[in-house]
Amino acid sequence: MTLHIPFDNSYARLPDRFYARLDPVPVAEPALIALNDDLAQEMGLNPEELRGPDGIAMFAGNLVPPGAAPLAQAYAGHQFGGFSPQLGDGRAILLGEVLSPEGARWDLQLKGSGRTPFSRMGDGRAWVGPVLREYLLSEAMHALGVPTTRALAAVSTGEPVYREGALPGAILTRVAPSHLRVGTFQFFAVRQDEEALRLLADHAIARHYPDAATPADLLRAAVAAQARLVAHWMALGFIHGVMNTDNSHVGGITIDYGPCAFMDDYHPEKVFSSIDQQGRYAYANQPQIAVWNMAQFATCLLPLMGERDAAVEEATEIVHGFADVYEAEWLSRFRAKLGLATARDGDRELIDLLLTRMALGQADFTRTFRGLAEGTARDEFLDRGSYDDWETRWHDRLSAEGRSLSEAQAAMARVNPAIIPRNHRVEEIIAAAVAGDLAPFRQLHAALRTPYDADDTWRAAPYPEQVVRRTFCGT
Ligand code: AMP
Ligand code: MG
Ligand code: MG
Repeated sequence: MTLHIPFDNSYARLPDRFYARLDPVPVAEPALIALNDDLAQEMGLNPEELRGPDGIAMFAGNLVPPGAAPLAQAYAGHQFGGFSPQLGDGRAILLGEVLSPEGARWDLQLKGSGRTPFSRMGDGRAWVGPVLREYLLSEAMHALGVPTTRALAAVSTGEPVYREGALPGAILTRVAPSHLRVGTFQFFAVRQDEEALRLLADHAIARHYPDAATPADLLRAAVAAQARLVAHWMALGFIHGVMNTDNSHVGGITIDYGPCAFMDDYHPEKVFSSIDQQGRYAYANQPQIAVWNMAQFATCLLPLMGERDAAVEEATEIVHGFADVYEAEWLSRFRAKLGLATARDGDRELIDLLLTRMALGQADFTRTFRGLAEGTARDEFLDRGSYDDWETRWHDRLSAEGRSLSEAQAAMARVNPAIIPRNHRVEEIIAAAVAGDLAPFRQLHAALRTPYDADDTWRAAPYPEQVVRRTFCGT
């Protein structure tokens, strides 16, 4: 059976300096770990074909299907604030772009597919842990309505990957409306390659913001999309963990699930990444970091925005516009989390007061908000009196808009998830997978598709000895 994949590779039609053309490096013994049937169907692909030997060979990098134009994308980026003029796909290959029957364009990318000219000291590979982690977290985000890259498939390679020891190798097939990063623009900006910047801006507009007529429109749209995205992360207690500019997507989607996490106990300064020692990418810093990243994007676009002084003024005003979009989106998401159907003065104070008391009370983020919908939130607080006091204010606020508590709670159960991929469960799943048992992975993956269902299997917070305090890039 041969693969029939409707490729149309617009990125590969850009000039040579945008990428390095090469095939993925074949692996010894590919085996399918997971295939996302729903996503395959959404893309207009045939899951049965993808599950067959040729599909698995494609996911492993052992077969380049007809119509593909494999390449590694060039990009630069600020990592923890320090600039690297050349990063690029060091362990990924873009096979090509798939056009769905509805006309959607999807990048089909293998992550962990071997060395490329951008690999530097790396081996170009991934082990099964981060592959399953990204699979679960990105699909959870999708089910929660957060714009994100998706996971189409995961395969094991039959080859060891050496990290702290030998670990089983794996490859993730990642699907996304593009892989255009702020760092992709920085790659050309630092080289003062205005022609490439213009082509890239047009490419980004075509793929993400077809209504944008100018680079200023592109910037405005990207800033607004990023503001909405980060507000959504905040409303779910999600910490990205590595918001470097090369991991900041100009289409406003979540990309590069490394040491990311959904918080258990709420704290604004929470950090999980083992490499983020200063807490640069802590929960509460995410909006400011996103603004900083958008300022880097704006800097790249300046040469395309006309006379210098006027361009700087316009770009500055657009980047400052992040705050208004973010604030409005944040308020509207947190109001909904509290069951408030209208906007009133004092709402921000009410939300902030709850968050402050959650931090003091070591309250679990997901369980507290879900608990408000189920009448069990107070159990999450060390000091239940501090919750009770807040609850009185919240009930007063609810009655002020004439909505009954039960009506509000029904609405809240549709926005406050019960099931998230908790760190301690993800770690257990990875350990089981390494030992050859994929059943837990499959169970959580299935449960994450309906995050608002009150399925108790996945809802428990970790016991103290189960708490995961550090997550690793550990590619
Ligand atoms: P990340 O921290 O995952 O966003 O990756 C930052 C840069 O390091 C990108 O250019 C990656 O392609 C590269 N990189 C990360 N891990 C590896 C690896 N195992 N082999 C080669 N390059 C890698
Ligand atoms: Mg990255
Ligand atoms: Mg707690």
